Amino acid sequence: AKRQGRNTWQWYRGRQAEKSRHNVLMRHDLHTAIREDQFEMHYQPLIDAQSGCICSVEALVRWRHPTRGMISPGEFIPLAEQTGQIIPLGNWILNQACRDLAELRANTGRELPVAVNISSLQFYRDGFLDEVKDVLARSGLPPELLELEITESVLLDGAKKVIELMETLKEMGVRVALDDFGTGFSSLSYLCDLPAHKLKLDRSFVQKAQHDHRTAAIVQGVITMAHHMEMIVVAEGVETREEQQGMIFRQCDVLQGFLFSRPLPLNDLITLPEYLIAD
Ligand code: C2E
Ligand code: CA
Ligand code: CA
Ligand code: CA
Repeated sequence: AKRQGRNTWQWYRGRQAEKSRHNVLMRHDLHTAIREDQFEMHYQPLIDAQSGCICSVEALVRWRHPTRGMISPGEFIPLAEQTGQIIPLGNWILNQACRDLAELRANTGRELPVAVNISSLQFYRDGFLDEVKDVLARSGLPPELLELEITESVLLDGAKKVIELMETLKEMGVRVALDDFGTGFSSLSYLCDLPAHKLKLDRSFVQKAQHDHRTAAIVQGVITMAHHMEMIVVAEGVETREEQQGMIFRQCDVLQGFLFSRPLPLNDLITLPEYLIAD
């Protein structure tokens, strides 16, 4: 038993070493990636539950690594957050998304808002609001067409300052969405004070509400509550017709998920029809 313990320990140590080697490599690669333009933006449509039309898009970053292929943001965003590289990367993302949607607007005349994910570190950095203003001015995108998605981790990092920042953004005409709602642990009273425009229900709730009546009750309660606060509710990760119908039944306003479309490069987004629900 003792030997086995040591083997397990060595195995664990080996795994840790491997992991940190991997992280060192990734950090180095991240640094080059920004300089060498290896990132690209994809856009996933959000669908108005009533009309079926595309009412906005979410910008999702992709890393086309020269030897490893596509790396998921779930893997490199946390790393970029740890190393601070999220600041230059986040600025690049914000800039690219605004330019792309300004271009789409100029070419098609469609006034499609774009939602950009913002990390906590980026949100609280001095000069973030100036960066947003600059990016809007440079791209020519109207502030009303920009939305910032923040998660509950942002709220936990600076509950007091967040309200101030959100108020200023609101005055500028930029909207804020609360992302992954329900996955964190912050109290409902936060929701009371935040001038958010939209609440995005995490996919885990959308799924679980289908077969678990207690989850369904929470989802229904959150939607009703959000509506009383004049917030729009989005269901994330809708994959089936049943989930679509379930969320429409619960009065959810907007749907997003593979059922309608995967995140797409700008050129493919332009070719999508305006309506994505056939029935
Ligand atoms: P998120 O903000 O919750 O983004 C939604 C994720 O769900 C995306 O994964 C999207 O591709 C995926 N998704 C959409 N519809 C479905 C569906 O029907 N089923 C399933 N299973 N998944 C669906 P992605 O692009 O891999 O991004 C993962 C996470 O990485 C994002 O979660 C976000 O937290 C982060 N991320 C992505 N792009 C950015 C970015 O530009 N900046 C920052 N700071 N974070 C980003
Ligand atoms: Ca998001
Ligand atoms: Ca989300
Ligand atoms: Ca998520």
